[in-house]
Amino acid sequence: MCIYRLPRGESIIRPGSHCPKCGKQIKWYDNIPLISYALLGGKCRYCGEKISLQYPLIELITAFLFLLTYQKFRGAPFTILIFLLLVLSLIIVSAIDFQTYTIPNKFTYPLIILGLFSSPFNSFLKEYSGIIISSSRQLSLIVSSFLGLLVGGGVLYLIALLGRKMFKREAMGGGDIKLIFGVGAFLGVANVLWVIFLASLLGAVTGGVLIIAGKYKKFQEVAFGTYISLGTVLVFLFQPGLNRIYIDLISICK
Ligand SMILES: [Zn+2]
Repeated sequence: MCIYRLPRGESIIRPGSHCPKCGKQIKWYDNIPLISYALLGGKCRYCGEKISLQYPLIELITAFLFLLTYQKFRGAPFTILIFLLLVLSLIIVSAIDFQTYTIPNKFTYPLIILGLFSSPFNSFLKEYSGIIISSSRQLSLIVSSFLGLLVGGGVLYLIALLGRKMFKREAMGGGDIKLIFGVGAFLGVANVLWVIFLASLLGAVTGGVLIIAGKYKKFQEVAFGTYISLGTVLVFLFQPGLNRIYIDLISICK
């Protein structure tokens, strides 16, 4: 619903869910994730208009990622809560960015605030912060969160500047940088660099595949926020695996 309404400037509170074709209110029992779509056969109960496949698809992805997030942080309820909020925001942001090439501040600003303020109790950050300041663990975590924001944003800003110089076009927008601010505040300085690396890699590979398939329009806009979101989820789900791969590569090169 957020993905549909926010880019159209509609309120996400009122009116309640309704069919975009016939305008009829959708009853609660026709609005149950996944189940209602299956029971209704993917059509509006009143006018028979097809319901976009996007709804059950997003619902399925959300359910799947929520489950993985819960598994990952089992035993740390506060970290589960804040990472579920992060995942939910990233799903909405990436779908909106994918469709409209914009990232609403409504999601990035709260993520930055939540990431910074939750950092003393963020168990992911505790595991990977790598920053120790005097004896205060809490202070170390806050610093790590803030550095993640600063370094993540800084690196992405430099890439954006470089892209503008080299290609004479906007490769990245302010929305991407605000998004990486939030991600950095959640994941800390080392892991936000992983996110940028993976996002760039995924973007380049996708671009390469599209060029080979002949589907790539020259100077097509890139929804980098979608890649940042994907990279973020991969990093927090697969750490410490990424660090291990890195250490193995280093030792092979030596
Ligand atoms: Zn209808």
